[in-house]
Amino acid sequence: ATTTIPLSRNSISNTKPFPKSLKTTHRPSTHRQAIALISDHGDPAAVIGKEEAGGQNVYVRQVGEALAKLGWQVDLFTRKRHPDEPMIVQHSPHCRTIRLKAGAETHIPRDRLFPEMPAFVEAFLKFQAKEGTNYPLIHTNYWMSAWVGLQLKQRMNVQLVHTYHSLGAVKYQSVSDRPAIADTRLAIERQILEQGDCVVATSPQEVEHLRSLVSSKGMIEVIPCGTDIQTFHLMPKEEARAKLGLPHDEQVVLYVGRFDPRKGIETLVRAFAQLKESDNSQKLRLLIVGGSDPDAVDGQERSRIEALVRDCGLGAVTQFVGQVGHDRLPLYYTAADVCVIPSHYEPFGLVAIEAMACGTPVVASDVGGLKFTVVQGETGWLVPPQNVGAFAEAISFALNDPLAVTKMREQASLRVQQNFSWNGVAIQLSDLYRRLLARSLSHKSFMPSSPFIPAPASLAVAEMAKA
Ligand code: UDP
Repeated sequence: ATTTIPLSRNSISNTKPFPKSLKTTHRPSTHRQAIALISDHGDPAAVIGKEEAGGQNVYVRQVGEALAKLGWQVDLFTRKRHPDEPMIVQHSPHCRTIRLKAGAETHIPRDRLFPEMPAFVEAFLKFQAKEGTNYPLIHTNYWMSAWVGLQLKQRMNVQLVHTYHSLGAVKYQSVSDRPAIADTRLAIERQILEQGDCVVATSPQEVEHLRSLVSSKGMIEVIPCGTDIQTFHLMPKEEARAKLGLPHDEQVVLYVGRFDPRKGIETLVRAFAQLKESDNSQKLRLLIVGGSDPDAVDGQERSRIEALVRDCGLGAVTQFVGQVGHDRLPLYYTAADVCVIPSHYEPFGLVAIEAMACGTPVVASDVGGLKFTVVQGETGWLVPPQNVGAFAEAISFALNDPLAVTKMREQASLRVQQNFSWNGVAIQLSDLYRRLLARSLSHKSFMPSSPFIPAPASLAVAEMAKA
């Protein structure tokens, strides 16, 4: 197949509106270069904010749609999780999600998914052959997709780009009992850096981690995550409060995200309790936005947080809002006086830039990508993770210094517009893809790299059986 690389940064060839999630098969047009983004568990067409669906899903979908506007034919591959899900979801004329059958068509938690990856590889190759499409560039997301990408690189001539989303080497530092799959994950995360064509780090902090904890070899480019600045932008607070039925005279503290112990919601609840205790004259409200399933692990974490809220005597002032789509989420950010991101570890943290885009100051843990996105004293405050006192103090500051907050509002929104729009991110990715493809065209000979991580059938399944 020939490689047709979109020519210029600005070749936006289709800006016509197109119905979202049109559930029909739409074959790619031949004059565009097809590229594949692989996201094993993070379905780009899924409802965001529950069942392990968070930043990775948003990233793949948004990047995919923005790349399509830049002239690529973008196919987003994920695993099919329900028999009634359509195999293909068309997001826009040149961007679609393709769900491959790999393992049982049901939700399989991330930590049990690796054994299904060989079937994913086969399903990908079968799809490619059936469509007569050739993907000369594959961008994988998360370590299991990296393994898929490395297997594909053994079998076809492909440029392999990878985004980690979460790094085992960092994650396991703060985990007391490492799962059985840890060694396999760490080995694959090293292999993709050393043998892939380029790793995309979403912050300079991630580059430091990769170099100090993973490998000194391999090419890394820093391209951040983004946000939809048409959706998340400055709006009048009073209007948002009125639309949500929230009173004007309360001070609203907001959490947005999944229910996961790593997200540190417990720290926020305890800090909020401390704040309330220190000054009972303030009318305070805590809004917790995020979906959960009572039968899944996020349901367990939500029950734990609900119990904590009751124990702290905060039941009357705390609201569990549930999952909110991006159509209404800007209202919550705008209505809030401060958005708190108390994560123990955060590779990037989309919520921070979404809140900032809406002009809401952020109080965040001084970790990972948050160190990069939140500018101390200018767009928010960074405090040590899990430090209840420090969180209480920073939230109090955000609630009681209107002058500083007014200044932050403009600065925060501007910072996101200038640095973190999905279009800007896609332009940088598009440039990277073009450079890699141009390089591969000038070195035509194809040398498969030596395999070094065994297939999960022989390795991880045995490990899991032992666990
Ligand atoms: N999110 C959402 N609805 C919710 C809760 C979260 O749309 O009810 C979205 C949120 O807007 C953000 C993503 O989920 O885009 C979370 O991404 P982040 O990087 O902050 O965290 P992750 O889930 O990747 O750990």
